[in-house]
Amino acid sequence: MTALLLGALGLTLSLVVPGPLARARWTARAPGAAVALWQAVTLAAVLCALGVVLAAPEELVRAHGADQTLAAAALVAALAVAAVIVVRLLVSLWQVAYRSRVRRARHRLLADLLDRAEERADLDGQVRVLDGGLPFAYCVPGRSPRIVLSQGTLRLLSEPQVAAVLAHERAHLRARHDVVMESFTAFYRAVPPPLRSRAPLDAVHLLLEALADDAARRQHGDGPVREALRTLADAPGTTGIEAGTEDPDRERRWRLDRLVPGAPRTDARLGAAVYVVAAAILVLPTVLLVIPWLDRALRHWPI
Ligand SMILES: [Zn+2]
Repeated sequence: MTALLLGALGLTLSLVVPGPLARARWTARAPGAAVALWQAVTLAAVLCALGVVLAAPEELVRAHGADQTLAAAALVAALAVAAVIVVRLLVSLWQVAYRSRVRRARHRLLADLLDRAEERADLDGQVRVLDGGLPFAYCVPGRSPRIVLSQGTLRLLSEPQVAAVLAHERAHLRARHDVVMESFTAFYRAVPPPLRSRAPLDAVHLLLEALADDAARRQHGDGPVREALRTLADAPGTTGIEAGTEDPDRERRWRLDRLVPGAPRTDARLGAAVYVVAAAILVLPTVLLVIPWLDRALRHWPI
């Protein structure tokens, strides 16, 4: 029964929850808590999968009163499959992190080589300015981070807007949003195609943009952030303020909607409630299902 319940919960968390959660409007008012909720949902789905693998053989053996040899074989098989799941996840995490670091190191080198920032003495040492009229702004995270702007961006934006864009990129770097995205990418790649959903990747990307926008608006006000986003997104030849989203138009609309005058502000009470739900998603299945099963199983396993 435990395996069935954990299986149902795991499938619900990985296939049913992501769609409505990705479409939910309230996440715009509590983006940090919504990221924590996505993390809880993703991690709980993985823990449910591990729970099924461990509980199902034990419950079958116990229900059919199998002998000690068969029970021992089932235990070894269950542990082996669980180990494969964990190793697959860890390898995926390592691969995503390694590739990102290699790509960023090359990117950093290129940005340093092509840098024209000396023409703008007002920009700080992290900022690199690339030639060209195409407007863009993004950051290259890591131990030695960079913020890359094009000359087109500096031409199009006013000084307060450039300051807002820099604050947005610094927020990404400071909070290591790249690590959050890497963990979701690694989970996505490790899960077999029929069981995975792209919704968490796109939704978390949007929420991290919202968190960086909020950091920028706290420093520079709503106006410069909104106008910088609108100007960069509307400029000919560009698809959005930064790369990384499947649907740049939706991202632009969603972010601008949060920044228009009169839009609902970030809601601390809603955020606190969502953090509680996230914690419950992680803790309750363990307390209600896994611990009682473990108690029964330990009395029957041949160990
Ligand atoms: Zn951003």
